[in-house]
Amino acid sequence: MYYPEPIAKLIDAFTHLPGIGPKTAARLAFHTLRMKEDDVIDFAKALVNVKRNLHYCSVCCNITDVDPCRICQDKSRDASSICVVQESRDLVAMERTKEFQGYYHVLHGAISPMEGIGPDEIKVAELLKRLSDERVQEMILATNPNIEGEATAMYLSRLVKPFGIRVTRIAHGLPVGGDLEYADEVTLSKALEGRREIN
Ligand SMILES: [Zn+2]
Repeated sequence: MYYPEPIAKLIDAFTHLPGIGPKTAARLAFHTLRMKEDDVIDFAKALVNVKRNLHYCSVCCNITDVDPCRICQDKSRDASSICVVQESRDLVAMERTKEFQGYYHVLHGAISPMEGIGPDEIKVAELLKRLSDERVQEMILATNPNIEGEATAMYLSRLVKPFGIRVTRIAHGLPVGGDLEYADEVTLSKALEGRREIN
């Protein structure tokens, strides 16, 4: 290596992050070198804190610093519906819409036979435990509209139907502001499938 060891180590650390190649890693490392010491310390603390002070909510498996998480603690929400998402980031995206008033369940992944990820590798057992709560009437499957997300939705739907709970899947459609002619066939056929009556 041509770099002094501390810099080489930092570059190496940055390359472990998703989407960061060696060039970007070197740029970030040298940027760190130019940062104020206090800012670097704050940054390092934030990295350590995210690992030390966060864990999974014992109810919904969302990432949280308090247990149960703030959403599960909120008694004003609607206990009759649970929205199932793959990642905590998806939960945040749903929350931003302010459309959903129920509770969530975070799977932390999706079933993927190709990658050897089965139901036991994601938070399915934790979800089933929650469905024995008789207040739950609907489970909304908001997994990603790709092969893994669809496989997970299909699996959960079959698993949960015997509970007598209504299972729904979020509609996949065309992006708002998009043009019909530019939509790919899968998106367009899914949009057609999810059509509904105009009131
Ligand atoms: Zn929770």
